[in-house]
Amino acid sequence: MGLYIHIPFCAQKCPYCDFYSIPAAAAQMDAYCGALIDEIKTARRTSAFTQDGCKNRLVDTVYFGGGTPSVFGTERIAHVLQALREEYTLAPNAEITVECNPSCASAAFFEALAASGVNRVSLGLQSAIDAERRALGRIAGADEARSAVLHARQAGITNISLDLMLGIPRGNAATLRRSIDFSLSLGVPHISAYMLKIEEDTPFAKTAPTLGLPDDDAVSDMYLFLCDYLNANGLPQYEISNFAQPGFESRHNLKYWNCEEYLGLGPAAHSFVGNQRFFFARDIAGFLEGSPSLFDSPGGSFSEYAMLRLRLAAGLSESEVQDRFHHSIPPAMRHNATIFAEHGMLIADENGIRLTPQGFLLSNTIINTLLSQE
Ligand code: SF4
Repeated sequence: MGLYIHIPFCAQKCPYCDFYSIPAAAAQMDAYCGALIDEIKTARRTSAFTQDGCKNRLVDTVYFGGGTPSVFGTERIAHVLQALREEYTLAPNAEITVECNPSCASAAFFEALAASGVNRVSLGLQSAIDAERRALGRIAGADEARSAVLHARQAGITNISLDLMLGIPRGNAATLRRSIDFSLSLGVPHISAYMLKIEEDTPFAKTAPTLGLPDDDAVSDMYLFLCDYLNANGLPQYEISNFAQPGFESRHNLKYWNCEEYLGLGPAAHSFVGNQRFFFARDIAGFLEGSPSLFDSPGGSFSEYAMLRLRLAAGLSESEVQDRFHHSIPPAMRHNATIFAEHGMLIADENGIRLTPQGFLLSNTIINTLLSQE
């Protein structure tokens, strides 16, 4: 099982973001740390949907996401990890990731993370061009990102991911290439690359027409370039938005796409355990008061599994479908797949069905069409 810990605090709100996060204040972060540890120890709010909060399961990945977990501070992260170790069985080689803002990234910060057992960090770079980062409301510059990578490595954390963003205001193919080259020059083994999406009720939603956003065709071309370029430079694509040297794929995130179990703690955190999906409301006050997690839906159906697996470059495997569901990939799905295959959107053969980078650009439409015909 994977464990996801949501840290809903940020130094400041980025104008495009609709993740659940609030301003970082020390007293509230202390209270939140206490509430997380209380939940870890008592499992009182998750045990309604699980067996004793899943404490009988082996945990082989832990992921601190947010928000900005690095503003939570290394001491609180260490306390949470200590509580996890006391209450759960952590695999000796568990992957333990913390998302970090490069502006938090002193040598002492990474040394403390490493001392608490963290062995993977994901750094929010977004762009190596400082003007682009400022347009996104980001504090740190590229130099801080470089220092963060060096300090993480010096502390012994070599499993490092950088986040890039496509479709940034006034961004173009040339600036994207500079950001990719910058990331490659740092030798990180993992890169995530997300397209900027204008979410409702964000400052960007109000100012979108004036932001100088590249159009959809330009962003699509950037995405296809990025896939080719990272592949040619030793980071093959393994998911729509993720690229890694072999062996450095995010083990935690693979649990989501492989439809494996994970328990999420904290406001807005989702869980999938025992074929049930449940979640905590986007409400830190409720979490601090002990509000229970809420039922979402049953999970783990073939449709859901196929939808998630088709996000992976490895796609939907015929043999794995047979092992898990005791039937083949449905003939109607295969029939529709051949139509997309003729247009280079996917590959369908005896091994299964997998989308190409061109297909990933239309993944929602393609996957919905495949599944509506099953
Ligand atoms: S740092 Fe991340 S989570 Fe926080 S506001 Fe910015 S994009 Fe959102």
